[in-house]
Amino acid sequence: MKPLSEQEIRAAFVNCTKGQAKRLSIPRDLAERPWDDLDFLGWRDPQARERAYLVTELDGRPKALALRCPSPAPWQPRRGMCSVCLTTHTGGVSLMVAPKAGKAGQQGNSVGIYLCGDLSCSLYVRGRKDAGAGGRLPEAMTLDEKIHRTVTNVAAFVTNVIT
Ligand SMILES: [Zn+2]
Repeated sequence: MKPLSEQEIRAAFVNCTKGQAKRLSIPRDLAERPWDDLDFLGWRDPQARERAYLVTELDGRPKALALRCPSPAPWQPRRGMCSVCLTTHTGGVSLMVAPKAGKAGQQGNSVGIYLCGDLSCSLYVRGRKDAGAGGRLPEAMTLDEKIHRTVTNVAAFVTNVIT
């Protein structure tokens, strides 16, 4: 994706107030992020581990989401698969919940998704980050197809939050 500035990211939030978007933590090392290899940029809030954020492009425009990661319930399986990049991690997949944008969000509606806990899906797909033994299943797909699937999954989630 195209590199984004802190200001562009703050302006792209769709599911929190303008005040929250102004105050939330944006990574300081934006210039060093591997943008060419990112389908979305995701990060955990260093001040509040139960918060995470992601920004991606939808129809050529940046859209950012504020997410909450509720602590996993004890009965939840320890090994899970990310629903965006289909990487399996032991204890490393988090349920992330996004309040819906606009009125639906004010009424308490939200959308949940299982995501790599470090939000590094793009890097796992490209083999730039190691998911450990059995993390990536062999698939009869080219890298481009896997990237396309990741982009499609993220776009579907963001669309779900917006509409
Ligand atoms: Zn993932």
